[in-house]
Amino acid sequence: MSDFVMTIGGDSVPAVDSFGVVNPANGEVFAHAPECTRDQLDAAFDSAAKAHRDWKLDEAARRETVLKIADVLFASAEEVAPILTAEQGKPLDQAAMEVFASGMWCQYFANLETPPQVIQDDADAYVEVVRRPIGVVAAITPWNFPVLLGFWKIAPALVAGNTLVLKPSPFTPLSTLKVVELLRDVVPPGVINVVSGGDELGAWMTSHPVPRKISFTGSTATGKLVAQSAAPDLKRVTLELGGNDPAIVLDDADPAKVSHAIFAAAFNNNGQVCSAIKRVYVPEAIYGDVLEGLTAEAAAVPVGDGTVPGTKLGPINNAPQFARVKELVSDALSHGATATTGGAARDGAGYFFEPTILTDINDGTRIVDEEQFGPALPVIPYRNLDEVVERANATHFGLSGSVWGADEDRAAEVAGQLECGTAWVNTHLALGPAQPFGGFKWSGIGVENGPWGLSEFSEIQAVHRSRSADGLNIGTSGIYS
Ligand code: NAD
Repeated sequence: MSDFVMTIGGDSVPAVDSFGVVNPANGEVFAHAPECTRDQLDAAFDSAAKAHRDWKLDEAARRETVLKIADVLFASAEEVAPILTAEQGKPLDQAAMEVFASGMWCQYFANLETPPQVIQDDADAYVEVVRRPIGVVAAITPWNFPVLLGFWKIAPALVAGNTLVLKPSPFTPLSTLKVVELLRDVVPPGVINVVSGGDELGAWMTSHPVPRKISFTGSTATGKLVAQSAAPDLKRVTLELGGNDPAIVLDDADPAKVSHAIFAAAFNNNGQVCSAIKRVYVPEAIYGDVLEGLTAEAAAVPVGDGTVPGTKLGPINNAPQFARVKELVSDALSHGATATTGGAARDGAGYFFEPTILTDINDGTRIVDEEQFGPALPVIPYRNLDEVVERANATHFGLSGSVWGADEDRAAEVAGQLECGTAWVNTHLALGPAQPFGGFKWSGIGVENGPWGLSEFSEIQAVHRSRSADGLNIGTSGIYS
């Protein structure tokens, strides 16, 4: 029935039903994943709640476990990569790197100390601010980086003393199911549970009474549903949502250099990155050169099945997303845009779309205003820098953005005007476990990574020890004075 298993309470759970997982390189179902039932979800949350009783007590043991998880990830990257490539489409080397990077995130969080902060230490009181675990976490991930984005949640959640139930996307459940199965030897039963199923399973999770925190990565539309679902129970939420990242090129930029780097950041993972460059603004004086550079890059990049050595871009991950990219590109073309290269899907099996550069296009076209999340990039000329910064910010999204120019300070000054969670200068997509990542506006609530991301998996507790004889020193409120 199912070739992969859910892990609940440290054990495989027999699948009652299953669903097919498609290889986007040929459009065919190649494996099945278990369809989690309501009872199985209850069992997963129950086991996470039981495991939490001990897990929250021993911080040193938690850190040691997360380091062991890192070792398992490093050792299993080659084993998991073909599964990830088959279900996601990305080339094998990038799939292995995703698993490997997940281990690096675990190592970072396992070693990240968050010592208590002492805010008062005098004759009246000793007051320290500490972090306490929240409890059980419901973690929900999308299909673009299923393993890595899972560990952006697992590693800090566990170190902070929580246990969790994780649900990957129905398009890419298998690599996550496999990785969690591999972790059974090093993680106590119930600490990490993984369930698979459709979108409805996500909704069951967010409305379930057990989890106290939802950590969600996905689209803005779903993020809003998650926030609504969390509200009646006041569950804590972190929402990592969509983006429409602008790249602004300044007039002192080197066209050849920036087109190479901008192409890489726009087409990474076939454009299916929340913080990929999704629109480029270029001064008229160097527009032709940058457009030419981007066109040459897109025309030359090897696209194909991720299992074929040398492939740099795989297929689009799934049929609905493939249809969306086709729709947005043909909408642009029908509104007067020109594709300098690409512009259409490839004939034959699989969800392959030609890497596309669009010119003769402006704000107000859907592919500029919306998140395309695919291998098609609009390049837009501008005259006035202040005006272009306004246009870059004239969106509900605010995930990240970048500014490119020879004068780094000037570029940084412009980048500082962008309304977004990460403002890059002469780079884009440079991320790391220590660097907070999150969005302004509709791109999210809260951040992941760094001490800020870790603290989102805990509650703040003020521990106030009175040193007065009568216990009546109510701070500076003066109520009893
Ligand atoms: P999606 O919102 O369709 O699905 C994400 C996850 O939510 C899946 O596991 C899905 O099954 C689940 N889900 C769907 N409906 C739900 C509901 N009502 N309640 C709870 N869970 C539900 O997103 P997607 O298409 O898988 O991913 C692409 C989107 O994710 C893009 O918009 C992209 O920008 C965004 N994304 C954001 C980040 C970030 O860190 N900001 C990272 C990666 C992707």
